[in-house]
Amino acid sequence: MTQHDILLVGAGLSGAVIGRELAEAGHRVVVADARAHVAGNCHSARDEETQVMVHVYGPHIFHTDDADVWDYVNRFAKFMPYKNRVKTTARGQVFSLPINLHTINQFFSATMRPDEARDFMAEKGDASIVDPQTFEEQALRFVGRDLYETFFKGYTVKQWGCAPTDLPASILRRLPVRFNYDDDYFAHRFQGMPQNGYTEMVEAMLDHPNIEVRLNTEIRREDASGYDHVFNAGPIDAWFGHRLGRLAYRTLDFRRFTYDGDYQGCAVMNYPDIDVPWTRITEHKHFSPWESHDGSVLYEEHSRACGPGDIPYYPIRLVTEMQMLGDYVSLAKQGNHITFVGRLGTYRYLDMDVTIREALDTARLYLGHAVQGARMPVFFKNPLA
Ligand code: UDP
Repeated sequence: MTQHDILLVGAGLSGAVIGRELAEAGHRVVVADARAHVAGNCHSARDEETQVMVHVYGPHIFHTDDADVWDYVNRFAKFMPYKNRVKTTARGQVFSLPINLHTINQFFSATMRPDEARDFMAEKGDASIVDPQTFEEQALRFVGRDLYETFFKGYTVKQWGCAPTDLPASILRRLPVRFNYDDDYFAHRFQGMPQNGYTEMVEAMLDHPNIEVRLNTEIRREDASGYDHVFNAGPIDAWFGHRLGRLAYRTLDFRRFTYDGDYQGCAVMNYPDIDVPWTRITEHKHFSPWESHDGSVLYEEHSRACGPGDIPYYPIRLVTEMQMLGDYVSLAKQGNHITFVGRLGTYRYLDMDVTIREALDTARLYLGHAVQGARMPVFFKNPLA
């Protein structure tokens, strides 16, 4: 019989935040993770050779408009000012992202003012597309064919392994188009990088006398009995032994290389040309501009279908996956004493701040339900929405 009453499967942001909130409310919590470290895919570690802090599973930039979430992360880590300024190497030139007035003027060899560029782009866009549904329709409507084919089409085919006509418009809606020279990749009020990495921040969240962390610990469904409640941040299909099939993800391969000096002058350089096999190159030392390193370590990022045994990164959420997800959601709803959370538990493309927001709200909901003796919902938010 365990002396703990709550089991959290996964020590990423969802598990750490829910674990912390419930531990502070007096629950005794186990947080288990199959991997040898906490922090899930935002895990960061010093590169042994260069001593640069590396985002081991690819770039993670903390940005949010949610002041509560910003305050929350600042409780557990010192955040340093950081602005993500992404460049893209397309057809032999370097351009600024997200598409802004500099990108537009450079691309069209023009010197347009903001209102001129706005009119120009309105003409380039396909106004016959009234309610864009697909990624391609969204792009053609708002940036027109030339910019779409140069900056988005190849990148998206490489990243998602399918045609942009098959992907939802919501993926492209993540990126703004600006008619000024603002090249901050994110438009949020708060943005920064934890001074000593995300892993130290998550370790601080989990550092509580009511929390026991078990690393290298795979949790199966049969291990979950004996707890009052389980929060599962692992893949929902794996929880049910993939009995209804495997939900498709993209996984990433990183080719690490080093450089003596500054290789690309920015943290993230995208490569949308279809004949370049990688999608982007990350030069990690630029994520810590307050540090100084002579050497440099870089990750070339290659996307491919996620097979059994690979690390899942991006949920694909095409029509077939959404049908399968619907079946898993129905199955999950038959259960009791479990709530599915986070990117893998709910099979959604979530940013870090949204993950934390939902984790905080989930923990508060649980505490309210626990007081009333009510049944906690299996999902905080409908994963099919
Ligand atoms: N995208 C693109 N070209 C770029 C950057 C992004 O086509 O240079 C598309 C691509 O489909 C990508 C999506 O926009 O998956 C969202 O981009 P974001 O930078 O938000 O991706 P993330 O950093 O989450 O991988």
